[in-house]
Amino acid sequence: MAARSERPSRQTEARIQSCTMADAACERSAELLGDYVDDVLSTEDRAALSTHFLSCRRCRELLAAYRGIPEILRNATDVRFPGDLRARLRWLLRR
Ligand SMILES: [Zn+2]
Repeated sequence: MAARSERPSRQTEARIQSCTMADAACERSAELLGDYVDDVLSTEDRAALSTHFLSCRRCRELLAAYRGIPEILRNATDVRFPGDLRARLRWLLRR
């Protein structure tokens, strides 16, 4: 049996390199996501991120999930008090 080369094929190497580059871009995208949503990024960063979102489904999904967080929080904290409980709690807190 011939000894197999440990060196990855050119195609595998290219794939590894493109994954690493994509991962670096995704990492950067995840870092800036909050600022992107809050619209406080520089014009260049915003443009770079927008371009990345066009080509990266994973980051688009992350962006959509991130944008959904405020609604999730609103729904989670939108508690209806039964009867006059709210008024009674207020009265108790004022004492
Ligand atoms: Zn990405």
